[in-house]
Amino acid sequence: MGSTTHAPSSATTTRSRAVLRDVEPGSTVECVLCGERVKFQAKVRHKQIICNVYEGDRWDRVEHFHAPCYEEANEPHGPVDTTPVVKARRSAPQAEPAEV
Ligand SMILES: [Zn+2]
Repeated sequence: MGSTTHAPSSATTTRSRAVLRDVEPGSTVECVLCGERVKFQAKVRHKQIICNVYEGDRWDRVEHFHAPCYEEANEPHGPVDTTPVVKARRSAPQAEPAEV
């Protein structure tokens, strides 16, 4: 408690998020750690880490990492959310109207 108006140097209220995703064909992003293209290769199903980076309270940018590079960087944007993307919620029976 008290008057601590100083911004703490370790402002680790990172709202930045990191998620694990497949690398998609035609990807042109570069890994911010090693600087190499995060390339799609059909035979090697690469994973990438996509981070929404916040500076303070505001979203600033998106960063991409190779999955191994993110680990190497000591998870700069927090633990990776590996929850798979739910592609289509077809729980509702009427998701697609059955046309003739
Ligand atoms: Zn990399």
